[in-house]
Parts: sequence; C-alpha cells; structure tokens
Amino acid sequence: RVVVGTKVDEHHVNWVTAYNMLTGIRFTVSRTNAKLDRQLTDADFGARHKFSFDITGNELTPSAKYDFKFKDYAPWVFRDLRAKFRLDPAEYLMSLTSKYILSELGSPGKSGSFFYFSRDYKYIIKTIHHGEHKFLRKILKEYYNHVCENPNTLLSQFYGLHRVKIPYGRKIHFVVMNNLFPPHRDIHRTFDLKGSTIGRDFKEDDLEKNPRATLKDLNWLRRNLHLEFGPTKKEAFVTQMQRDVALLQKLKIMDYSMLVGIHDLGRGNEEQLRDKTLKVFQPGGDNAEDQNQTAMGPLARTPSKLETAKRAKELREMVKKEKPVPMDQMLDKMPEGAHRKDFYFYADDGGFQATHENDMPGEEIYYLGIIDCLTRYNFVKKAEHFWKGMGGNESQISPIPPERYGDRFVKFISGMTMSRERAEHDRMSRTME
Ligand code: ATP
Ligand code: CA
Ligand code: CA
Repeated sequence: RVVVGTKVDEHHVNWVTAYNMLTGIRFTVSRTNAKLDRQLTDADFGARHKFSFDITGNELTPSAKYDFKFKDYAPWVFRDLRAKFRLDPAEYLMSLTSKYILSELGSPGKSGSFFYFSRDYKYIIKTIHHGEHKFLRKILKEYYNHVCENPNTLLSQFYGLHRVKIPYGRKIHFVVMNNLFPPHRDIHRTFDLKGSTIGRDFKEDDLEKNPRATLKDLNWLRRNLHLEFGPTKKEAFVTQMQRDVALLQKLKIMDYSMLVGIHDLGRGNEEQLRDKTLKVFQPGGDNAEDQNQTAMGPLARTPSKLETAKRAKELREMVKKEKPVPMDQMLDKMPEGAHRKDFYFYADDGGFQATHENDMPGEEIYYLGIIDCLTRYNFVKKAEHFWKGMGGNESQISPIPPERYGDRFVKFISGMTMSRERAEHDRMSRTME
C-alpha cells in the first residue's frame, strides 16, 4: 500500500503536538484501563480530567519531553465505547503510542482539521474545532445509546476525545476514530458522497496528477457507478443507514458524507511492494532488519481467531518480559483488524464485499462509513452569514435543513445501491421505453 501522508518525526513542524497527543493518550488510557470495570453513570458523560506534564514529572504524571497540559474527556464512556467496538485495550495503546507512529495527512478538507494516522493505519486522529468538540460532548450520551442499540452502526466510531495545550499555545481538541480503510489492501478509488451536486465535482483533469484523490458525487454519477449489493446486503445496508441518519437528523447534524473506498479484487494489491514503511517483525527472528518484508505478506490474509489470540498473548508476554524490545517493533506484530470480523459491514476483510443479485460474492470490496458527523445546522448557518457578508456565492454553500439533508442523503445512497444485474436490467428497461 502506498504510504499516505508524511511521517511525523522530530523534524516535522507538528512533532511536539503529535508527541504531546500521544503521551497524553498513553497516560490517560492506561490510567483508565487499570481501574476495575464498573457501570457507567450520568456523571461519566460530562467528566473531564486535567493533567500537567513537564520534564521532571510529579506524583501524578510521569516526566515528558515537553511541558504541556492534557485534558481527557469522558474517559469511562470512551473506554466503554472501545469495548463495544471490540478494541483490545493493549492493542489500542500500542497502535497509538509508539514513538514515530504518526503520519500526517495535513488538512484534506476545507475545515482546517488535521488528520494523523497511527503507524499501523488503524486509527485516525482528527483535530476538531472547539464548536465540534463542545457538540460531541453534548450529544455523547445519545451517540453512546445509539451505538448500544446499533452495534453495526455506519457512523464514525469515536474512541477518545482529548485536548492538548502547550504553554502560551492554543488549545487543540482532537478525536481518535476508526480508519475506514484497511492497512493491507489498496483502495483503487475513493468517493466522498453527500447526495448533492452543487460543488460536488473533483476536476477529472487533476486525477492524472493525483490518482488517489477523493472523488465526489458528480464523478460517481459520471461513471454510472453503484454500490453493488444484492438484495440481502442492500436491505441490511440501507436499513442501518436509515437508522444512523435518523439519529443525525434528530441531533440536527448535516454536511456528513458516505465515504466509500473501492477495492477491486481483480486488480488486487498492485502496489504492495512499494511500501517501505510498514515492516513485519518476525517473532523469534534475531535479526529483524533482515526480515523486512512489506506488511502485506503474512498479513494479507486475515488471521484466524486463534492466531490473533496467540499473537496478542505473545505480545503481552513480550511486553512483560522483554522490556528492551523497541515499541516500533512490537507494533509491527499486531494482527490486522481482528476485531472487525464481528461487525457486519466490516466483516469481509475489514470491508463489505459486493454481491450479485443472487447474493453470491461479487468482484469488489467496499470500505464505507458515514464520516464528518459533528457539524450542527447552526454552525453552517453562521458560516453562511459570514460568507454572505464576504460576498460569497450563496447557492454554493447554502445549507439545507438537517431533515432534508438526511432524506436527500438516504435517497441518493439507497438509489444507487443495487447489484450489477439489477443496474443492467434497469438500464435495459429504460432504453426499451
Ligand atoms: P470538510 O469539513 O471540509 O468536509 P473535514 O476537515 O471535516 O473537511 P472530513 O470530511 O472529516 O474532513 O474528511 C476529509 C477526508 O479525510 C475524507 O474525504 C476522507 O478522504 C478522509 N477521511 C476522513 N475520515 C476518515 C475515516 N474515518 N477513514 C478514512 N478516511 C477518512
Ligand atoms: Ca466533509
Ligand atoms: Ca467537517
């Protein structure tokens, strides 16, 4: 897989921020994990804990490389959510807290948010605006209840909400969430779909420069594409999407998208050999450097439950016994997406495989989910007034109310969800008319 983004090391401008984020996560997540499980209370949803880190350390926090403050929000709720999404606590920590772990995607959207991938590409850290942060805290309970009632939700999976601040610096809020795309498979095309056509066109000419660009609604329509699911999968997918969108409408959220990554099984992993960053550490091998392979080799196939359990156990024992093993190398032994097998839309090697009209497996794997779901109608309205004041083109940005946004979204996505045979049949009957 081609490496996405730039590696964040000591020379990177955002190294200190990234380091502080990870140090804070490591400390607060281990702290919460170490406590005995208990029932959630209402107070847990509003909880926040502040920690000061400095180079000397104190009785509460260990020493860190830099001085910074870290705030942990609703740690019990997120611990519970991580368990509901079947993350292994030890794995979660290790994925996120090795030293050179992040790669930065910069700011792909207009919002100015930054995206960082954990080194194993399983998790994304997204910086969010203060308004989005306040909003997530406000709706956390409803989000949590929704996840309890909808274990197969397509909504972004939130695993943590935190804030960092360096002396005299600004406050940076961020969430940790699932990377919808798999570390071990090429995504041949990516689409960000909203069900709107205004401004929803990626210039096709620019595709040559940037073949991995995220395309939009008009590009999708131009290609006459479908989410190729036969009746059974379509029904499950559309039903879940409707339930998720109903929540978003209730919470007056809009501007979200269906992110769709398409892996074409016929093309496979063309680019796997180019990857230089992800390396596999062979347990027992005394010279890991000599055994550098691309991560795809042994991990291309999904490990069995038993293998996964065995590897996790090995890992834990290694952590206990062999202190000197560098974090970097432990990370590389992590099983790929093992927990995801339990979830309907992520059960086919981390994604959801196309099916034919007779429900037999198709030629693509879709990696999909509803992303960017922290924008409340009010925010957009404010932005709109701002743009109007600036003489911006209103029709390009004019928001439609959340009810209509959601209905349009569901209509668009479900309307293009059909098997190859169904699409062909519809096309034929149209030309007959
Ligand atoms: P804007 O508000 O301008 O749309 P944003 O900064 O809020 O931008 P998002 O819309 O959340 O950003 O995401 C931007 C892009 O980042 C997406 O189109 C997608 O390519 C990638 N992305 C976001 N979330 C995920 C995810 N969970 N998994 C994989 N890729 C993601
Ligand atoms: Ca977006
Ligand atoms: Ca956004």
